Order: sequence, then structure tokens, then C-alpha cells
Amino acid sequence: MHKQLELVILLNDLELTLKELTEDESKLEEKMGFKLSKKQQIENTRSEIIKQLDPTVHYAFEKVWKRYGKAVASVRKGICYGCFESLPTQTVSRKGKNEQVTSCPHCGKFLYWLED
Ligand SMILES: [Zn+2]
Repeated sequence: MHKQLELVILLNDLELTLKELTEDESKLEEKMGFKLSKKQQIENTRSEIIKQLDPTVHYAFEKVWKRYGKAVASVRKGICYGCFESLPTQTVSRKGKNEQVTSCPHCGKFLYWLED
């Protein structure tokens, strides 16, 4: 898998976890201490990932994340599972799809290709 795609998937997961932690905090005040240190760890890891991420990829990530609250979509049988639209044939028929960073022409999410 392309290193940048791997980083994008990681960053997407971290952002989702951070969002959950932040939403939980108000409900779980007694666990706040634990949650906060975990949050700190996640934020540190996030900074590490962003440092390794190509700036143009990071910019695109931020844009899609702000719009949808997620930035990665799985693809199966030529369908983007982020928006359920068909992807162009030339993209679908390409070899080594996870070896490059592609985004959906419809929703803009980064594509992670599953086996058909
Ligand atoms: Zn899409």
C-alpha cells in the first residue's frame, strides 16, 4: 500500500477517535483524567502523522474531513462506499490501486480499494 494512503487511513481513524473522546468527555466526567491523557497521546500521534503527510494530501484531507466528518471511503465492485456512486472505468480498471493515492471524483474522499 502507498505510504501516503496508509497515513491518510491512520489519520482518519485518529480523527474519528478524537471526535468520540471529545463527545464522551461531557458525559463521562469521572473518567476525564484517563480520557484526557489518551487524548493527548492521540494528538501527539496525529502530529507525527501530519509531519509525514504530503502537504497537498493533508490539505485535501482537511477539506474533505471538514465537509463530511470522515475522509476515507472503501471501494468495492467499482462503487465508492463514501457516496455510493460508480467510479470511472479507467480508475476501476487500473492495476495496483492501493499503490497510489486516489480520491473519489464525486465526494472527494480518499479511496481504499477492497477486493471485488
Ligand atoms: Zn465517493
